[in-house]
Amino acid sequence: MNPGAQEKTSEKIKLGISACLMGENVRYNGGHTHDPFLTKTLGQYVDYVPVCPEVECGLPVPREAMRLVGDPLNPKLLTIKTGIDMTEQMKAWARIRLDAMQNENLCGFIFKSKSPSSGMERVKVYDAKGIPANVGIGIWARIFMDRFPLLPVEEEGRLHDPVLRENFIQRIFVFKRFQELRTQGIRRGPLVDFHTRHKLLIMSHSPAHYREMGKFVADIKNQTPEAVYDGYAALLNNAMSLRATIAKNVNVLMHIMGYFKKQLSGDEKQELLEIIGEFKKQFVPLIVPITLINHYVRKYQEPYLKTQIYLNPHPFELGLRNHV
Ligand code: SF4
Repeated sequence: MNPGAQEKTSEKIKLGISACLMGENVRYNGGHTHDPFLTKTLGQYVDYVPVCPEVECGLPVPREAMRLVGDPLNPKLLTIKTGIDMTEQMKAWARIRLDAMQNENLCGFIFKSKSPSSGMERVKVYDAKGIPANVGIGIWARIFMDRFPLLPVEEEGRLHDPVLRENFIQRIFVFKRFQELRTQGIRRGPLVDFHTRHKLLIMSHSPAHYREMGKFVADIKNQTPEAVYDGYAALLNNAMSLRATIAKNVNVLMHIMGYFKKQLSGDEKQELLEIIGEFKKQFVPLIVPITLINHYVRKYQEPYLKTQIYLNPHPFELGLRNHV
């Protein structure tokens, strides 16, 4: 792969999404919560599967608003004014919908925050006295995440944070590549190659997982291919769930510098060190040292770095590293 060119996945990434975020008028009040970044910018690279659990389980638009009530781990979904319990209706629909989704090859889901049906965390749950606490998970979001525990999930509100946004989008692209690898057949060689190309990206999220996964891959001859893929998928998901902080990225950038020790001139080394230092102080975004490094990868044709997904993890046009 040429540095500077994002590695292609064979087809568009498929993401589930709360339908109101797409601009569909499915909210209880007949409105929507359209998010232009999701539809216009990210939408160029993904195919969305919109889901409105409240409408799809049979409720009308407009409808009475609902809320979660009772045990935060197993709450009831009740209409606010009339107290009608919609929990079982939604759960029964969700089981059927998830069976259908099993074969859709989703690479993630973007949930509408705060919704008693679709919110994935900190949803209000009311106790017997009618006092709310932000401790719940929407009925649909919980069932979905239980069924697909390794799938990257995020809320639209958190995606307005540039670091969380880049993190999530990296995860869905990694998930897609891993999904493609798996569908090509379970073989050890391609998995080792996948791991090699993702090494620096994994390190930027978790140096501890980077070491653990290195040992795991070195030991795969002693395991069945299925066990290898399942074990690797779990480790990969755990690693990618951790945030790639400034300090972790600086660690990776300095590690990359080690590969150029012999080729870079004194001036080039100095320039790269200064730019990494400016990124560390947050005077420049991550894209600045990455661009310079990609320039040196091209100039010196560094063979290992040419293969590294870290240097081009997602489409350049998304501009995700302009803000982190
Ligand atoms: S938050 Fe979920 S249930 Fe509510 S309108 Fe949006 S998609 Fe439908």
